[in-house]
Amino acid sequence: MSALQKLAQFGQRHIAKGIGRSTELVIEKGKGAYVFTTEGKKYLDFTSGIGVTNTGHCHPHVVKAVQEQAATLTHGQCNIFYHKPMLELIEKLQPKMPSKSLDTFFFWNSGSEAVEAAVKLARHATKKQNIIVFQGSYHGRTIGTMSMTTSKTIYGAGYGPLMSGVHVAPFPYCNQCAVHKSSPDTININNCCNDPIRQLELVFKQRSAPSDTAAVIIEPVQGEGGYVVPPKDFLAKLREICDKNNVLLIADEVQSGFGRTGKMFAVEHWNVTPDILVMAKGIASGYPLSGIVSRKELMDKQPAGSMGGTYGGNVVACAAANATLEVFDNEKLLENTNARSEELFAALRSRIPKLLPKGASVDIRGLGLMIGIEFSGVPAGFATKIANEARDNHDMLLLTTSIYETLRLIPPLTVTKEETADAIERIMKSVEGAVG
Ligand code: PMP
Repeated sequence: MSALQKLAQFGQRHIAKGIGRSTELVIEKGKGAYVFTTEGKKYLDFTSGIGVTNTGHCHPHVVKAVQEQAATLTHGQCNIFYHKPMLELIEKLQPKMPSKSLDTFFFWNSGSEAVEAAVKLARHATKKQNIIVFQGSYHGRTIGTMSMTTSKTIYGAGYGPLMSGVHVAPFPYCNQCAVHKSSPDTININNCCNDPIRQLELVFKQRSAPSDTAAVIIEPVQGEGGYVVPPKDFLAKLREICDKNNVLLIADEVQSGFGRTGKMFAVEHWNVTPDILVMAKGIASGYPLSGIVSRKELMDKQPAGSMGGTYGGNVVACAAANATLEVFDNEKLLENTNARSEELFAALRSRIPKLLPKGASVDIRGLGLMIGIEFSGVPAGFATKIANEARDNHDMLLLTTSIYETLRLIPPLTVTKEETADAIERIMKSVEGAVG
C-alpha cells in the first residue's frame, strides 16, 4: 500500500461519518474545469464544488490576488478594522446588485451564516418572528438554517428541537404538473396544480399571520430541491404578496448568484428586487466568503455590535472576491455562460430522450449553467447510476439533487466551447451506460 493510500485510509477512519461524500476521490489540484487526484487522474468537473468555482479552479488572476493579499495582511478583523479589500469589494459589488436600493452590506463566511444573518435582520427590523420557506428549499445546516431547509429530512432528523416559527409553503413545481415541463416562460401560474399563490395566501391565513411574519425566503431558482425554475410571473406575484402583507422578501442567491443562471443574480430574470439578498459560493471562487445586502434604512436598524464574527469578510477572501469580479468583466463570463448554456440545452434536449428506455422521459430545465435533468419512469437510483457511470468510466464529475431522479450540471462559467462539446459526449455515454 502506498503512503498516500495509507493516508487516505487514516483520514477516512478519523473524519466524522456525518459528512457524507459522493466520491472517495482524493484530489490534489484543480485547473479550470478539471480536478486531478493524488494519483494523477484527471476529471472534468461539472460540480464546481457545488457551484462555487465559477471562475474555474485556480484562476490565475484569483490566485495572484490571493497570494499578494496573504503576504500583505491575512486577518483584518471586521469588528476592529476596516480593510481595503472589503471597501473595494463593496465598490465593485454595488453596481452589480439587481437594484440601486440594495446598497448596504454585511460579510460573513458561509452561506448558512449569511442566511441566518438575513433572518436576524428581518426579525430585528420588523420586530416579528416567523419565517416562511418553500418546500424543497435548502438554506444550510446550522441549527437555524436546518430548520428552514425542507429538501430532505436527513438534515434535521434527530437534531431537534428545530427553530420555531418556520412555516412551509409549496414551491411552484410538482413533477406531475405537465405545464412545468421545460418551459417556465409559458407557464400560466394559475394552471400550476400546486396553486402556489393561493397556497402562500393560505399560509398567511392559516399558519403564520402577517402580523407575526418577518419574511418569506426563496431560492429564485431552487437548488438542492431539484434545479427548478419558477413560472415566470411567480416572483413578481410573491413580491406583491409580501408588500401587501408588510412582510420582507429574502432571496437566497447562495447557489443561483454570481452568474450561475446567466445573469449576475437570478432575481434579475424577473426584475424583482428582494429586501435582502443572500450571497456566497461563487462570490470568491472558493474562498470562504458570504454576505447579505439590503437597503441602508433596513440594515441600520440593527444596533452596532450585534452583528459580526471573527472571520467575517476575511481580507484574503475579499481579495479573492475582487479578483473574481474582475474576471467576470475581463472575460465576459455572463456571455460565456449563456452561450455554453444554449449549446448544452440544445444537445441534451435533442439527444437524451433518444437514449432512454420505453416509458421513460426526461425534463431538462434550468437557467444559464444551472441545469437540472430529471428522469421519470426510470428505476430508483437512475440519476446516481449516471453520475457513477460518468465518474468511473468517463472521468467526469456530476451531482444529483436530493429529490426525484435529477442530475445537476454546474460547470464553471469559464467552461470553453470545446470542453462543453466534450462534456456532452461524456454525459451521453454515461446515460447509455446507465440504461445498460
Ligand atoms: N443556501 C443555498 C441556496 C445553498 O445552495 C447553500 C449551500 N448548498 C446554502 C444556503 C448553505 O451554504 P453553506 O454550505 O456555505 O453554509
